[in-house]
Amino acid sequence: MNIDKLIQQLEAKHPGEYEYLQAVKEVLITIEAEYNNHPEFEKAKIAERLVEPDRIFSFKIPWVDDRGDVQINLGYRVQFNNAIGPYKGGLRFHPSVNLSILKFLGFEQIFKNALTTLPMGGGKGGSDFNPKGKSDAEVMRFCQAFMLELWKYIGPDTDVPAGDIGVGGREVAYMYGMYRKLARENTGVLTGKNLEFGGSLIRPEATGFGGLYFVHHMLENAGVDIKDKTIALSGFGNVAWGAAIKATELGAKVVTISGPDGYIYDAAGISGEKIEYMLDLRATCNDIVEPYAEKFGAVFVPNRRPWEVKVDIALPCATQNELNEADAELLIKNGVICVAEISNMGCTPEAIDLFLKHKIMYGPGKAVNAGGVATSGLEMTQNAMHISWTAAEVDEKLHQIMSEIHNQCLRYGKEADGYINYMKGANVAGFLKVAKAMLAQGVI
Ligand code: NAP
Repeated sequence: MNIDKLIQQLEAKHPGEYEYLQAVKEVLITIEAEYNNHPEFEKAKIAERLVEPDRIFSFKIPWVDDRGDVQINLGYRVQFNNAIGPYKGGLRFHPSVNLSILKFLGFEQIFKNALTTLPMGGGKGGSDFNPKGKSDAEVMRFCQAFMLELWKYIGPDTDVPAGDIGVGGREVAYMYGMYRKLARENTGVLTGKNLEFGGSLIRPEATGFGGLYFVHHMLENAGVDIKDKTIALSGFGNVAWGAAIKATELGAKVVTISGPDGYIYDAAGISGEKIEYMLDLRATCNDIVEPYAEKFGAVFVPNRRPWEVKVDIALPCATQNELNEADAELLIKNGVICVAEISNMGCTPEAIDLFLKHKIMYGPGKAVNAGGVATSGLEMTQNAMHISWTAAEVDEKLHQIMSEIHNQCLRYGKEADGYINYMKGANVAGFLKVAKAMLAQGVI
């Protein structure tokens, strides 16, 4: 495989799609050696076929706001690869959404879903709609208008969307209601549903829980006890609160969370009623964190990110490229032992290079945060079987899956000096599964 040539071709075809090109480059570089062991991959042009989505739908979403004014947003669904199962991946509602971001997320999703051991292909979608500051009625009208277009392209065995940034239980419920009315069927076409209509126990906290199970395995493998370790979290969204709960249960102490206004440093630990308070605040205050400081006597640092705090473990939980080279330098100087992305592509390539150079344990998002989509896969199974598992049953399966993902990373990521390159391990393991499926199914 000639990576430089392939990247150059992609850059020429998709100029300015930085996040997509960044994600593709990272995967190609780490799988190159394994790829070259398989001349059959080269002959079937697996890499060239894998880096382009199967198809992309884009559409306009007109809707009416509370003042009676017509608003128009853009909507997308990227169906990237369904060699091992129906397209599966979340929907993101955020003003920054564009095709580059959705293509990077869809591409990552292919390998992440392959790692879960469940039969799910990769996809992603969303809109530049900003749910912040909108009334409940506006969010409902937007979600209904979005589904009025999207429903034609999805189905329980075709493409199964879920939540992501800006899309939680409320948005999934509004979209599901519209799909059900249009398609005249109750199926597992969306995951992250409420429990009353087919949702799975543990799904809301699964990404954070799974992330901490993975971190626990990373530390255990290195002979390090997670107990009493300090953790810096960023954001406080869908995934961060589950991470904070599980970290505390495992005996670690979460000392930071962040929002668009800055970050909180709470040396006493962010747990229990403090998490409850933040979840309530989040529902009304558009993610800002400052009120926490006054309520619990903690430090609020405006307009900064939490990576300047001295901690043992750093867990990016907000968005892509939120931890850069300067942040990585500071974390390393302050003695960080493990950095694991619960957000997708949370670290820049320069930050990752530094972690690898300093042999810091580094977990890539596609392995660390795979518990979310894995539990979505479990929700699909329950829907197809028309049953509901208990929380303990789902949690046990999630635990098993995270352990299996960790094993795959060890298998393909162990270097000669014993250092585990989790990025390489996750990419190679995920890629091999998809590539073999594509090869077996012929050129289609
Ligand atoms: P969320 O609840 O909406 O929280 C995301 C937070 O990130 C928001 O507070 C947002 O605040 C902040 N943010 C900062 N810069 C942003 C930017 N440029 N674009 C978008 N958001 C930005 O979302 P979430 O579901 O927790 O997702 C967090 C991360 O986890 C994402 O990378 C997502 O892809 C990943 N993830 C989520 C799941 C899941 O189950 N939800 C599963 C796997 C991975 P502002 O908008 O105010 O900046």
